[in-house]
Amino acid sequence: MIESSCVCGAVRLAITRAPDELVDCNCSVCRRYAALWAYYPLKDVIVPGGLTDVFMLGPKKIEFHRCKTCGCVTHWSPTDERDRMGVNARLMEPEVVARARVRHLDGANTWKFLD
Ligand SMILES: [Zn+2]
Repeated sequence: MIESSCVCGAVRLAITRAPDELVDCNCSVCRRYAALWAYYPLKDVIVPGGLTDVFMLGPKKIEFHRCKTCGCVTHWSPTDERDRMGVNARLMEPEVVARARVRHLDGANTWKFLD
């Protein structure tokens, strides 16, 4: 298991494995959050309850969670039945993500990878 923690330490996600691939997306939300997303099936991530605030944009298919105390964006989760969530790998320890490949997603326009 690895951990992803906000800066104040209130929100700690427990995750089954380190990511192999990270996604840097240029859509209106992700570029402002400066998040690097690692995707997991829901069962692979344990999220503590009640410690985050939520933001939803547009069609409201995903909730962006941030720590209520320090504001770090910790993860997003689906509001539908998709078995997929995104953990902000910026909150993982540097050595955990050091070997992961970073892919650039054009979420602003084409939804294709730019690399
Ligand atoms: Zn925090």
